[in-house]
Amino acid sequence: MEDIDLRKFLQLVDENYNVNDLAQIITAYSMAEDLHKGQYRQSGEPYIVHPLNVAYSLAEMHADCDTVCAGLLHDTLEDTDITKEEIEREFNKDVADLVDGVTKISGMNFSSKEQQNIANTSKILNSITEDIRIIIIKLADRLHNMRTLQYKSVFKQKENALETLELFAPLANYIGAYRIQNELEDLSLSYLRPDDYKILKEFRDEIKQENKEYLEKMRDSISETLKYHHIDTEIKIRAKNVYSIYRRLQKNIQEGISEESLDNQFKNIHDLLVLRVMVEDVQDCYQALFLIHSKYRPLDSKFKDYICNPKSNYYRSLHTTVFGENERLVQTQIRTFDMDKIASFGLTAYWDIYRGNARISMQNQIREKSIVYRSLQEISSIFGESQEFIDTVKKEVFPNQSVSIYTPTGKILKLPEGSTPIDYAYSIKDELGDKYEQAVVNNKEVPIDYQLKENDRVKIITSEDSKGPSEDWVESANTTVAKKKILENLTLKNKKLLPNN
Ligand code: MN
Repeated sequence: MEDIDLRKFLQLVDENYNVNDLAQIITAYSMAEDLHKGQYRQSGEPYIVHPLNVAYSLAEMHADCDTVCAGLLHDTLEDTDITKEEIEREFNKDVADLVDGVTKISGMNFSSKEQQNIANTSKILNSITEDIRIIIIKLADRLHNMRTLQYKSVFKQKENALETLELFAPLANYIGAYRIQNELEDLSLSYLRPDDYKILKEFRDEIKQENKEYLEKMRDSISETLKYHHIDTEIKIRAKNVYSIYRRLQKNIQEGISEESLDNQFKNIHDLLVLRVMVEDVQDCYQALFLIHSKYRPLDSKFKDYICNPKSNYYRSLHTTVFGENERLVQTQIRTFDMDKIASFGLTAYWDIYRGNARISMQNQIREKSIVYRSLQEISSIFGESQEFIDTVKKEVFPNQSVSIYTPTGKILKLPEGSTPIDYAYSIKDELGDKYEQAVVNNKEVPIDYQLKENDRVKIITSEDSKGPSEDWVESANTTVAKKKILENLTLKNKKLLPNN
C-alpha cells in the first residue's frame, strides 16, 4: 500500500471535484489537522494521517463533497473539543449529521466490551436507513484501520479481522463496492488464517504468472477484433481475490472433493482469471459479446446478463465463460466504463454518474421497499439490541451462503441458503405470505417447504380464499422474518376465534 500524503490527496481531489468542493475539502482538512494536533496513532504517525487516508479512499470512490469533508472530520467530535453545531456552522447540516452518525458508532473499532460492540453493530446496521453515507465513511475508516492493523496486538488483530469479515465485507457488498470488499476480505484472511492466506496467494500468483502470456495473447486478439469493428475498448486481466478462492476450497471440503490436488482444484475455478472488457456504451457491450462468441465458443451454462438483470447492489455486466485456445476456459466480463466504476466503488460512483437527486431517491427507496430494510426492522423488533439481533442479521440479511433467485419480473434476489417459497413471499411483503396459495418455481408447482436453488424463477400465487398461515407453515419457514409473520398471523386468528373476555 502506497503512502497517501496531502499532496497526493489534493491532486486526486483536484482531478475529480469542482473548485467549490476543493475549497470546502481544504477547509475541512485544515480544521481536522488543527483539532488533532498533538495526537498520534499507534504507528507513531500524527493522527491526521488517518482521516486523510479515509478521505482519500472516499474521494477515490467518487463520494460527494460532504462525505469527503465528513471523512476528514470523522474522529473530531469524539477526540477533540469541537461540537456538532460548530461543524454545521462551518460546513452544513449534512456534514455535521454524517460526522455525528459516524461518531455514534464509536468506540467499536478496538473495543472488546461485548455490550458496547452489540450496541455499535446495531447502530451500524440501522444507519443503512438513516443515511447510507454513514456506512460508506465507516467502510473507508475500517479499510484504513485494516491496512494498518500490524500495530495492534495479535488479539485485536484477530478480533478486528473477524468483525471485518462478518460485518464490513458484507456491507461493502451491499453497497456494491467490490474493490473494497475484496481488499477487506483478503486483509481479514491474512490475519485470521495467515498460513492458508500465504499458500493460496502464492499459488494464485503462480498460476497468474503461468497464464500471463496466454491471456495477454487472447486480450490482444479480442482488442484487435473489437477495434476492427470500431469499438473502443480497454481490456484488463484480473485475478480472483484470495478469500474467494479460500471459500471455494472450503466448499470443496464440504462437498467432499477436497481430495483432488490443489492444482486440480484451482483448475476448476472457471473465474480464477478474468478478462475484463470495457467499452463505451451498452450497445457496444452486446456487439462485443457477439464478436467474442464468434471467436470463442461459449460455455452456455455460465452466461449471465447482469445488464438486463442488474444485481440489487446495481452491479451490471455481461459474464461469459468461453473456450480459449487449447480448450482452456476463460471468463470474460463485458461492461461499460461507467458500469466498471460502479462495480469497483458502488453507490458513491452510481450517484456520481447519475447526479441530480439519485442519492436521495435511492435512500427513500431503501426505506420504502428494500428487503434489507424490511428484514432489519423485523429482526430488530424481535431481538432488540442484542447478540441474537446481530447473529440473525449476519445469517439472514447478509448471508455467507446464499442463493440468487429471479422474481417474476426478472429481478435478482439473494436469499439465505435453505430458504423456501414462504420465506421468499414474506421477504417481499406480508400480503404475499398471508394470501399464499401456491408456489411456482421454473413453471412447476412446488411444495411450500421446497428449498430454493440458484437461478430458480419463483412466483407466488395468492388467493383471497387462501386458508392463510397454519402451524405447519412455521416448519417450512427458514428465515426469522417469515416465522415471525406466520406466528403473528396465527395469534391474530386465534384471537378472532376466541370470545372477548
Ligand atoms: Mn477513524
